[in-house]
Amino acid sequence: MKRLYAGGWIVTCDEAGTEHPAGWLLVEGGVVGAVGTGDEPDADERVELSGAVVTPGLVNTHHHLYQTLTRARAQQENLFGWLRELYPVWAGIDAEAEYAAARTGLAELALSGCSTVFDHHYVFPRGRTGLVEAEVQAAREIGVRIVASRGSMDLGASDGGLPPDELVEDIDAVLADTERLVDELHEAGPGARAQIAVAPCSPFSVTKRLMAESAEYARRRGLSLHTHLAETIEEEAYCMELYGATPVEYLTDLGWLGGDVWCAHCVHLSADDTADFAASDTGVAHCPTSNLRLGAGVAPVREYLDAGVRVGLGVDGSASNERGDLLHEVKQALLVARGRGGPAALTAREALRLGTRGGAAVLGRDDIGSLEPGKRADFAVWRTDGLELGGAEDPVAGLVLSAPHRVDRLVVEGEDVVRGGALVRADEAEIARAHRVEARRFAQ
Ligand SMILES: [Zn+2]
Repeated sequence: MKRLYAGGWIVTCDEAGTEHPAGWLLVEGGVVGAVGTGDEPDADERVELSGAVVTPGLVNTHHHLYQTLTRARAQQENLFGWLRELYPVWAGIDAEAEYAAARTGLAELALSGCSTVFDHHYVFPRGRTGLVEAEVQAAREIGVRIVASRGSMDLGASDGGLPPDELVEDIDAVLADTERLVDELHEAGPGARAQIAVAPCSPFSVTKRLMAESAEYARRRGLSLHTHLAETIEEEAYCMELYGATPVEYLTDLGWLGGDVWCAHCVHLSADDTADFAASDTGVAHCPTSNLRLGAGVAPVREYLDAGVRVGLGVDGSASNERGDLLHEVKQALLVARGRGGPAALTAREALRLGTRGGAAVLGRDDIGSLEPGKRADFAVWRTDGLELGGAEDPVAGLVLSAPHRVDRLVVEGEDVVRGGALVRADEAEIARAHRVEARRFAQ
């Protein structure tokens, strides 16, 4: 079955940044067969795009889906105050709540053009099972790709950590459960729909031993490694006090930096840290809205890009960015870069590239993130005939600068996940209703 999407502005996000303003995209068996302009190739079916913009499906590189249950809390707190208020609430998470939360967060992301989602789950109250499985099930039902993490916390308050003791786990239990999930759920190779990453939470909630053993395990199994890093000034002071090192020095000592690692936030990296990230090919998940919401600062993304650091975008959890919209995050990345470095600090196309090709690179995926022959057919179709894009002769810049937008069509592996601005395989209103029922259990 060959399907031709024609008459659109195709943004390939290939290495050269090729765009086809009157272009077409040929999809065959879930894979991009060809992309171009001019004479249309033969196909079994032709879909008219009517001038819409087509981009690769957006890639989210940092999230905590369960946090959709606890939005708009701790409204004036910094990271540590916010966490201290929320940890006890999150201790109520179970598989039913996780499933409702994941469906909500994944639906929001899909409707914002996001086809691949990384979720950093690290809250595993003792005795609660099926949390990661619930997320993967939700992703399968909605139709997006998921990279789920078996995160962890083992440094409780009584040992100098931030989380309450009842939320930390034993190292052996963490590693055994990680192995179980990898064996059950992890897919390797091109087109993977579900993968598992190893993701201890942060320097202030995980022991040195668990950080080291997590890396050793991930590398033995060929899995990606992820953690939060250098999110706030307070975290740096905490690391200096606890470990006598800055967050990046600490990770370096642990042998963590490398091409299989990406870190969320990295708001506070020095020039030397940036050079170390570039030299080691360590990636960054840039989460501008969350960083602004918690007053954490603004990551120097222009400097990261100039140094050659891999950078993708993340909406971060819905308790610190109540809007899980990745196209909005593309715009935020542009705005905060310009707030730091002036109007030329980041172009609209560079921002879009962070949200597509950049995110794929951060997740270690070479099968998604651009529209080129042989890549998976994951793409977003954005209408250009609505109110917001009137007068924008450059619809690609217009799309980014006037974001957010609801995607018109989202295709994953050649199949529609969103069509006409609505989920194809799930009912948005039903998801929202079921989520409200679960969220009531977390009300204070
Ligand atoms: Zn986070």
